Amino acid sequence: MKRKVLLIYTGGTIGMEKDYETGSLRAFDFGNIFQKLPEMRLIECEVSVHPFKKPLDSSDMGPQEWKLIANYIGKNYDNYDGFLILHGTDTMSYTASALSFMLKNLKKPVVLTGSQLPIGDLRTDAKENLLTSLYYASLYENDEAVIQEVTVYFEYKLLRGNRTLKYSAEYFDAYQTPNYPVLGQSGVHLNIEKDFLWRSKSDNGFEVDDYISRDVLFWRIFPGMHLEHLLEMPKMKVLILQVFGSGTIFNSLQTKQILQKLRDRGTEIVVVSQCVSGGVSFGKYSNSNIFTQIDAISGHDMTAESSITKAMHLLDNPKYKGTFAELFARNICGEITVG
Ligand code: ASP
Repeated sequence: MKRKVLLIYTGGTIGMEKDYETGSLRAFDFGNIFQKLPEMRLIECEVSVHPFKKPLDSSDMGPQEWKLIANYIGKNYDNYDGFLILHGTDTMSYTASALSFMLKNLKKPVVLTGSQLPIGDLRTDAKENLLTSLYYASLYENDEAVIQEVTVYFEYKLLRGNRTLKYSAEYFDAYQTPNYPVLGQSGVHLNIEKDFLWRSKSDNGFEVDDYISRDVLFWRIFPGMHLEHLLEMPKMKVLILQVFGSGTIFNSLQTKQILQKLRDRGTEIVVVSQCVSGGVSFGKYSNSNIFTQIDAISGHDMTAESSITKAMHLLDNPKYKGTFAELFARNICGEITVG
């Protein structure tokens, strides 16, 4: 049986071609993808293409587009076996993370991919990324989808979406999940690491919850920074502080007073690490004790992208019961290592 995949084209380099006369890049009509890539017809699945009206550079994508994609998947969920989203690489990890929180109890594959070189370029990485993503988006065994979560496929690797970060603007191998194993590798064979795949434990059916708050701020601290500046941002409800190593910050009375002042105003403080591998562990060094004293929330080994979109999704979300701190500490869909 041929599986049906809905391909949503949002923009980015993958949908561009080079004008060899001027040397500049231009978007091509993605509706014609089958002409551009006749190999797509050889894949054992039926592909329907839904292009965004205006292809976007992914730096123009945000909550509005995340909601659009989530709801479009929701509307078409029963009619397709898998979903493939073509996306610019710059903010793909944000979209993948946001979607992982918005698409509840997924039982079908959602794969995001893009490319470093346009599809119309001779040396493009787009073709392999697109064709193998289609394979993963249509992979079923015994009538059950093998992938039941939001993933990113890039340069021979299938990765958990909310664990990814774009770490190279230069190399084809642009994405990593330093705190989670690779879910699948494409080589001579296309393999999949079943033990690492996410499975929802909830008995509830699939549902879209596109709630997103924007009263979240992310701040990287650095040696010599004037923390007082943080007090000048009154509307911020969640402050995500990206601190040193395993959760340390300059240990002074002033640091404590400023962070406590924020807490007294009702600001939630989440702490994540500037290291991309490993994470925050309160209490390991005395320079993290301040965070325990002010009841800050540990982001453990979450990526910046995932902590931001998780906070945006949870803050004042009427569908969740519990305090922000309790909810944030929970592993919702494989984005954090707990326990
Ligand atoms: N600026 C582009 C984007 O993110 C880069 C890319 O697609 O690789 O849309």
